[in-house]
Amino acid sequence: MPLTATLEDIKAYQQKVEKNKITPNGLSPCPRCHLESIFFKLHAYRERRFLVIVDMLVKAVFCTLVRFRCADCGKTITNYPDFAIPNKHYTRQTIEGFSRAYVENDQKSYQDAVVIDDAVAERPVSGQALAPSSVHRWITTLTALIIAHRQALKKSLQQNPAAQLGSHLELIQIPKKKYKTHNRKHCLLWCRWFFKIQDFLKINFHRVCDNTSV
Ligand SMILES: [Zn+2]
Repeated sequence: MPLTATLEDIKAYQQKVEKNKITPNGLSPCPRCHLESIFFKLHAYRERRFLVIVDMLVKAVFCTLVRFRCADCGKTITNYPDFAIPNKHYTRQTIEGFSRAYVENDQKSYQDAVVIDDAVAERPVSGQALAPSSVHRWITTLTALIIAHRQALKKSLQQNPAAQLGSHLELIQIPKKKYKTHNRKHCLLWCRWFFKIQDFLKINFHRVCDNTSV
C-alpha cells in the first residue's frame, strides 16, 4: 500500500498546536509586502478535517491549522503541516503515494490502484472504501500543483545537473491504455516527470509550496 500520512502524524501536529509550538519561523516572507515571517503575528486557529487511509478505508480526523497575520500589510498566511495540501482533505502523502503507484506502473489500472497488494477488493463493513475515481482525481490535483510550481521545480533542477539529465519531459512516455484524451496524457506525463525529479531532489510539495508562498 502506498505511503500515507498516519493518524499519529496528525495527532503529533495537533499536540504541537495545543502547546503553542507552531511558530511563523521558517515560513516564506509575506507574499504581498515581503516582510520576514519572524514578524508575523498569531491570527487564528482553524479546524480542518483530514482524511487518511487506514487498511484502504477512509477515516476522518480533525486537526487545527494555525493562521498568522503579516504585521505590516495584514495579509493572513496559513501554516500548513507537512501532511496538508491547501484546500484538500486528503493528505499530501496519500495524494502523492497513490498517484505515484498508478503513474509509475504501466500495468496498473485505477481499480488496481486501490487494492492492497494482491488482495481482492472487499466491501467494508464500516467506513468508506477508497474509490478508484479518487486516484484519478488526485492525479488531476497533483498536475495542477506541478504546473503552478513548475518554475520553482525547474529552478531546483537547474541546481542539480544529474537530476536534469535524468528527467527530460520529452523522454518520458505513458502507455496508450492509460489515457483516452490528450489532456489526460498531459497530466500523466507531468506527474511522471514530477516523481522522477522528486527521487533525485528529495523534495515534496510542502517545501515547494512553502518556498513559493502559495
Ligand atoms: Zn505583508
